[in-house]
Amino acid sequence: MTPYAIRKPPANGTTTPVIAAQDALFAGSGDMRARCRAFDWSTTALGPESEWSHSLRTTVALVLASRQPMFLFWGPELVQFYNDAYRPSLGLGGRADTALGARGHESWTDIWATIGPQIAQVMTTGDATWHEDQLLQMERNGQVENVWWTYSYSPVRDDDGTIAGALVVCQETTGRVRAEQAARAASATLAAERAQLRAIVDQAPAYIAVLRGPEHRFEHFNAAYARLVGDRAVVGASVADALPEVVEQGFIALLDHVLATGESHVGRSLPVSLTTGLSGVPTVQYLDFVFQPLTEADGTRSGIFVHAVDVTDVLETRRVEEAARAEAQQSAVQLRAFADAIPTLAWTARADGYITWFNARWYEYTGTTPDAMEGWGWQRVHDPEVLPAVLERWTGSITTGQPFEMAFPLRAADGTFRTFLTRIIPTRDASGVVTGWFGTNTDIELEAGLRKAAEDANRAKSEFLAVMSHELRTPLNAIDGYAELMELGIRGPVTDAQRVDLARIRKSQAYLLGLINQVLNYARVEAGVVHYDCEPVSMQAVLTTCEALTLPQAQTHGLTLERLPCDTTLIVRADQEKVQQIVLNLLSNAIKFTDAGGRVTVGCVRGGDTEHPAIHVRVTDTGLGIAESKLARIFEPFVQVDSNLTRTRPGTGLGLAISRDLARGMGGDLTVTSTVGTGSTFTLVLHASIPALVSSQ
Ligand code: ADP
Repeated sequence: MTPYAIRKPPANGTTTPVIAAQDALFAGSGDMRARCRAFDWSTTALGPESEWSHSLRTTVALVLASRQPMFLFWGPELVQFYNDAYRPSLGLGGRADTALGARGHESWTDIWATIGPQIAQVMTTGDATWHEDQLLQMERNGQVENVWWTYSYSPVRDDDGTIAGALVVCQETTGRVRAEQAARAASATLAAERAQLRAIVDQAPAYIAVLRGPEHRFEHFNAAYARLVGDRAVVGASVADALPEVVEQGFIALLDHVLATGESHVGRSLPVSLTTGLSGVPTVQYLDFVFQPLTEADGTRSGIFVHAVDVTDVLETRRVEEAARAEAQQSAVQLRAFADAIPTLAWTARADGYITWFNARWYEYTGTTPDAMEGWGWQRVHDPEVLPAVLERWTGSITTGQPFEMAFPLRAADGTFRTFLTRIIPTRDASGVVTGWFGTNTDIELEAGLRKAAEDANRAKSEFLAVMSHELRTPLNAIDGYAELMELGIRGPVTDAQRVDLARIRKSQAYLLGLINQVLNYARVEAGVVHYDCEPVSMQAVLTTCEALTLPQAQTHGLTLERLPCDTTLIVRADQEKVQQIVLNLLSNAIKFTDAGGRVTVGCVRGGDTEHPAIHVRVTDTGLGIAESKLARIFEPFVQVDSNLTRTRPGTGLGLAISRDLARGMGGDLTVTSTVGTGSTFTLVLHASIPALVSSQ
């Protein structure tokens, strides 16, 4: 029996039922039914549909009728059928137009390697296959597309029970798979972004924490926050439990308030005391912080986002700056008070030259006011002729940062002008940048007047001393003269007792005359009337004379007087008489202030340098010495180290003053070094003369 037997016309010879059956096979609506009707099935291995087996017809009818995408391979050549639901999966053009009635392996060359074996398996074993979201790269819409399918191949038996077809019930899942892939990618991106965000939060220098629930339990916090709370294990714990020390500081109440009202709280520079170390000693930090309520999608408030920044350093810096500013203001106030007290006009200016302040003397002298100085005062106090030059100099200083010194007139309150020496110096910061200017105007006429008055007074004193000394000398000379007349017996016989008295009178007279001569000497030196006759002087000659003159005195005191060998080439340029006077004075002091058994040495050496050759004359003793504190003062007139009235050594306190004045008058100097109890060395410095010149003269 052939497979086509059942399609034989009935015995009554009419074909109507067959035609009717044919019509019924592809009858009905739909694109694929229409295509099936139009297709010439006799061109296929299946032959005209009138000859198809019952099973084929039933299966084709089922496929065409189904709303589920279906595809059917039939016969050894796997001739193809599919329905309207399947059609969109073929895309447009290409296979969409040729698949119907075509042979499977010819139609699906692109994916035959995959589906060929699956179909063969079903056809040979009779076991259905199941493929879920199978990826197939197929040609569609003129290109190769990734297409996913969920499908099964089911064996379809022919009327004789052999497997003649494979029914494909399928669903293209490309859309869903793609959507799932996109969703997976999106969630991966989201996870990555979340991780990134968390890393940023974790590494943020600010203190960040998320608190949940009415007890404000720590859900998350960053590394900075962990450090802030001393790395305590706070996750899951309530703020009150984890950080008990903040309860009293009012923070829990604040958190409660934020959660209850939904209003975020911003705190500025609030002190927070936290126990951060093992020591248990709380440290105070100043924080700027925000408590931000966290609201769920449904509007409920579930937690609080905490963000805080440590501003301790900022506050400390600000505090130091404020203290520095206050100190600067304080010293500015003191300086201004000081500047008001001095008899000089003073003022300050900004770096750009704008004058910011004048002292009280300025207003007093000029008769202006701060308001006037802002306006017409500047013109008022200056001489219009000189003002441009002054301003030019002042502008020059401002641009170059150089100090300024200039004399110009300033108008006094009474309208008259006086000349002032104006000095302006820049004030600079640590890096040397000019921060302002300090100016003074000194009244030159007033200063010169004061100096002259002082000089006049000194000269008057010296003149007075000179006159008085002279006046005293005249009667003293008379005393000596008459005493001598009496001593010589010219006025009559003199008894021995009277002779002794006369000798005493004459000794006292000589002593008093010596003192008066010294005063006169000093007065003359001071009054500047001493004349110096400078010429080359041999020091050897001077020292020889001085030694001879003081030797008797030294011997009387029981002292050794030693003259060190003196080179004959040691020639000074000086007034011989004055040099001798100085050396004699130094020697007699040395003798006077050295006890018996001591030694006085005088010598002479070269000093100075090639440009300024000098000769040093040294008088050294082993006497009392002079205290360091008195050393400088002994050169002042009338100063004596032992100045009480019971002192045993006579003197006026003028010898050294005169000696130094004379030394300086010749361009030299007189200095001293001394140690109490050991002795003193006085050094007379004189200009050296050039030996060649000496011999030529
Ligand atoms: P006078 O010797 O007349 O007192 P001077 O001006 O010569 O005045 O000396 C001032 C003071 O310096 C002396 O009174 C003495 O106290 C001190 N003085 C001077 N020379 C010496 C010295 N060689 N040793 C110690 N003291 C001295």
